[in-house]
Amino acid sequence: MSNIPDYFGSLVFDDRVMKATLAADVYSSLRRTIDEGAQLDPEVADAVAVAMKDWAVAHGATHYTHWFQPLTGITAEKHDSFISPSPDGGVIMYFSGKELIKGEPDASSFPSGGIRATFEARGYTAWDPTSYAFIKGKTLCIPTAFCSYGGEALDKKTPLLRSMDALNRQALRILRLFGNDTVKCVRSSVGPEQEYFLITKEMYDKRPDLRFTGRTLFGVKPPKGQEMDDHYFGAIKPRVLEYMEDLNEELWKLGILAKTEHNEVAPAQHELAPIYSTTNIATDHNQLTMEIMQKVAERHGLVCLLHEKPFDGVNGSGKHNNWSISTDTGVNLLSPGETPYDNAQFLLFLCAVIKAVDDYQDLLRISVATAGNDHRLGANEAPPAVVSMFLGDELNAVLEAIESDTPYKGVEKTTMKLGVDVLPTFSRDTTDRNRTSPFAFTGNKFEFRMVGSSDSIACANVMLNTAVAESLRIYADRLEAADDFKTALGEMIKKTIKDHKKIIFNGNGYDDAWIEEATEKRGLLNYRTTPDCLPHLLDKKNVDMLTSHGVYTLTELRSRYEIILENYCKTVTIEANTMSGMARTQIAPAVEAYSAELAGSVAAKRAVDPSIECAYETALVRKLSGLLDGIAEAADALDAAVSEIDSKGEIGDEANYIRDVVIARMADLRRVCDEAETVTSKKYWPFPSYADLLFSVR
Ligand code: ADP
Ligand code: MG
Repeated sequence: MSNIPDYFGSLVFDDRVMKATLAADVYSSLRRTIDEGAQLDPEVADAVAVAMKDWAVAHGATHYTHWFQPLTGITAEKHDSFISPSPDGGVIMYFSGKELIKGEPDASSFPSGGIRATFEARGYTAWDPTSYAFIKGKTLCIPTAFCSYGGEALDKKTPLLRSMDALNRQALRILRLFGNDTVKCVRSSVGPEQEYFLITKEMYDKRPDLRFTGRTLFGVKPPKGQEMDDHYFGAIKPRVLEYMEDLNEELWKLGILAKTEHNEVAPAQHELAPIYSTTNIATDHNQLTMEIMQKVAERHGLVCLLHEKPFDGVNGSGKHNNWSISTDTGVNLLSPGETPYDNAQFLLFLCAVIKAVDDYQDLLRISVATAGNDHRLGANEAPPAVVSMFLGDELNAVLEAIESDTPYKGVEKTTMKLGVDVLPTFSRDTTDRNRTSPFAFTGNKFEFRMVGSSDSIACANVMLNTAVAESLRIYADRLEAADDFKTALGEMIKKTIKDHKKIIFNGNGYDDAWIEEATEKRGLLNYRTTPDCLPHLLDKKNVDMLTSHGVYTLTELRSRYEIILENYCKTVTIEANTMSGMARTQIAPAVEAYSAELAGSVAAKRAVDPSIECAYETALVRKLSGLLDGIAEAADALDAAVSEIDSKGEIGDEANYIRDVVIARMADLRRVCDEAETVTSKKYWPFPSYADLLFSVR
């Protein structure tokens, strides 16, 4: 392809295209809607629709779709063509403002967690003008929100937009208190680093577990894994490089700022990071990125695995959510700044985040809860299920100094009137060394590392935005009522540090001793699994907070509780059934065939000379025979456990049962099958091994 700047965003109806194709008054009216959330005039919508359609048709589009993010986690689209009959028997390409603004997908099969009764199955999609429309294949995709007729959000985007509003409202109050009257809008930004595995399609096709569940349900660790640390940042193999080049090109055409690519820790694992953008757009772009990653892989005879834990005993994949808050005037509110006044404002925003993470540990954990991510959180390479924050030594020392009223020793002391010392200048290097923290300050942003690789980043950012908005609301309420702003500010910063320092941990988060300290001494939450944490979504404190900011209604929260647990149950049930099927129809027959070969060989040898002992073969046949019995027994036990699921009643009980019984039975079956893999001739083993899979791309 030619010059990148020439084709970057060529498939996006972005500001450049809008400016070029819309009349000046239409353009400025649309801009007001995009920038300030002003209501869109129907006539403007019509004009935009025509321009959008003409542009899309000129770029080869024949259809349009309202592109939305239902609660299944993936994106959904229903295509309509632009054609409209004309009186002469032909067609014209037609698209109206009404069709742009609102759609009515037949959405009865999207999960709603009981919000919609089946007789009232339809919902509607509403255009989100803050995210640009784009062309995928031959279809113009219009980013939309998805709601029920009653107005309840059935998607991930609506609460995200609401949470951005909440954060904006409260942050503006704080900025006004600091005398800033010029800022019009505060937004959170996100740069999600996406991890993934690449294996060959040929290997993938031979593994029903990968095809049906996205992860391997059987498999022995390869003799060479990641212990040599030779993959991380290592030279990228030519075939992978070709994939990445192709992928970048596709993403750039869609205006996605794909920036960094490198190998990750595990063999066959890689990472792609975009340049950060407004949370709403970053979320849309990440969904698109995941989709395109998989599509491009197919073209290269590869499969891109986005599962959080495709291989047991090998690093899992996450999505590091780099999050910051900034103003429309370009100021990052999490940047410490150079002057004391900036410092005080920075410290207040920092405190707001500390308080938010401590008060809403549970919501952050819930926001990343899926069956897949449960395997990763707490495994020895991923952040633990305990939420804590890393601030780095310097910032920690500053907070300690403030709390104890002692001068901060790291810099020459210049105490400002607010009772806050001048901060040291932070370089990313001094703050980014801790890779084990779930929530790390990295110089001018926070990196939330618990998000799973296949998950939408929407939920994590909804919770983050809203929890921080809540801290800011409490601060603004107090400061607005205070007689003396500076005294009140100093006191509040100090109080936050004192009350919430238990969430700050700068040590090794992978250490078992930390989990003990966190839970026993500090009283931090440790929800290891999805069924453990999900009920807390409906805790009064969480419902009150989320509803008071207008981010979710109680009904919407209840529906999410249902849907997330339903997803968990379905996911594990599919895994259990896949395991049982593979064990019975592939693994057991392979073990049987191999023992038959051995037994045959014993018989043949003895026919030659009855005194040949055949000790090796007979011992192995005995062992294989025992393993076969074990496999059958474990598969029966698993099936029995699965058949009980439906009788458990409520979704919460069902999920608990699955966590306690079904998953344990799955582990039993895996153990015996994996042992069989170690003693069965490779010739008979019915699918590629871990070594085959992980080193398949050359
Ligand atoms: P790492 O060492 O973790 O790879 P990078 O500097 O490469 O760190 O950044 C990781 C991600 O963080 C990128 O997507 C980047 O765009 C994003 N990022 C950088 N600055 C900010 C910021 N102020 N707000 C949000 N995300 C940011
Ligand atoms: Mg990172």
